[in-house]
Amino acid sequence: MSSNDADVIVVGGGAIGLASAWEVARRGHSVLVLERFGTGHDRASSAGLERQWRIQYSEERWSRLALETVPLWHALESAAGLRLVHRTGSLWFGRAGVATSEGELRAAGAVLERLGVPYEWLSAPEIEARFGFARLPADHEGFYQRDGGVIDVKGTVGALSRLCSLAGVRVRENERVRAVEPDGEGVTVRTDRGVHRAGAVVVNAGAFTDELLAPLGCALDLRVFRMSSAYFARRSDGMDLPTWYAFLEPEDGAANGSLYGFGHNPWTGSGLVRAASDAERPVGDADPSVPGLPHGGDLATTAAWVREHLPGLVPRGVRASTCLAALPADPGRQFHLGALPATVPHGERVVVQSAGWAFKFVPMFGRICADLALDGHSAHHDPASALA
Ligand SMILES: Cc1cc2nc3c(=O)[nH]c(=O)nc-3n(C[C@H](O)[C@H](O)[C@H](O)COP(=O)(O)OP(=O)(O)OC[C@H]3O[C@@H](n4cnc5c(N)ncnc54)[C@H](O)[C@@H]3O)c2cc1C
Repeated sequence: MSSNDADVIVVGGGAIGLASAWEVARRGHSVLVLERFGTGHDRASSAGLERQWRIQYSEERWSRLALETVPLWHALESAAGLRLVHRTGSLWFGRAGVATSEGELRAAGAVLERLGVPYEWLSAPEIEARFGFARLPADHEGFYQRDGGVIDVKGTVGALSRLCSLAGVRVRENERVRAVEPDGEGVTVRTDRGVHRAGAVVVNAGAFTDELLAPLGCALDLRVFRMSSAYFARRSDGMDLPTWYAFLEPEDGAANGSLYGFGHNPWTGSGLVRAASDAERPVGDADPSVPGLPHGGDLATTAAWVREHLPGLVPRGVRASTCLAALPADPGRQFHLGALPATVPHGERVVVQSAGWAFKFVPMFGRICADLALDGHSAHHDPASALA
């Protein structure tokens, strides 16, 4: 009989932490989740209402992983008895050559072409006629991918939370992990309320990861920032949009970055439509766990662009929200996901996932974390995301 509190401890009860915990528990292992706030809180990244579901990436490996994730979303939806990914289509347009942390138009189109994923390349007039945008510059172009859409954030977190509970996962809320210490027998986890032991630990702490890894000598060098969104009323109930992303330059009225948005989400019933500037406002020295205010300049830029290019919306934001995000500091990297590097003694017992636009991969990253923690390898793990 092991003296461990659980076979696996998961640090962080966001969407991916809960997905990891569910995967481990489904394989018959005991799991303890430690969450510094409460499940479903809005202070970290699994906050707000919507996330983009898309297959297109500028790098083929991530598009392939998105395709492999489709059946995992179906399995999660089936277990939860709830639709979580709504296929409203994904529209990417703007200026070819503008590269953002999302990717670049032509490169992403080429990947879809190579993988045989259906898409339609569209001119600016075609985008206006079909989707209700207006006054787009003549040299704008892009594509519509019909399988893209929008993910229900609260629905996903709530579903995973319920499934974890049914699978016997124990979740301790308001318990902050202070240190993770692997050794030859297992891992000691020190919190502000006590000490726990497990055979392996999965760190799904998002923007807060580095404070746990720094004492082990392998901080990940994350960019931690906030993004601000606004919600707009539609002028008519019939007006709707696919999930969209506009690759823009400052001359397009996008001084604060490109813009993106959604149609009205089917699960809140509010009828409001979210749009946002893809501007990253660094948290700097501020405590990232303290909720910040939406950035006034970014909300104004978004409203001005909506006024000019989305005549179906009332261009005065009805409400605003902000959310914490983390990306790898290296712009050539999409994610950090893997066991601690060999330079950390017994680091193979600690699996870390952090940073990137990762909501679309929630069930996949949960599976990979479980594979790595239990088996030491995963058929889905791409070395491009491994910890350096
Ligand atoms: C505005 C915005 C838009 C986005 N758009 C998209 C998109 O369109 N598509 C997409 O795929 N992704 C998108 N993302 C990214 C996506 O939301 C995140 O990748 C995802 O939510 C990360 O989930 P997570 O569980 O890893 O992290 P989080 O949700 O941040 O969860 C981490 C959890 O760990 C807990 N924690 C941290 N430290 C400790 C500690 N020491 N002890 C105990 N608990 C701790 C935190 O309280 C938190 O609950 C977006 C993010 C933002 C902010």
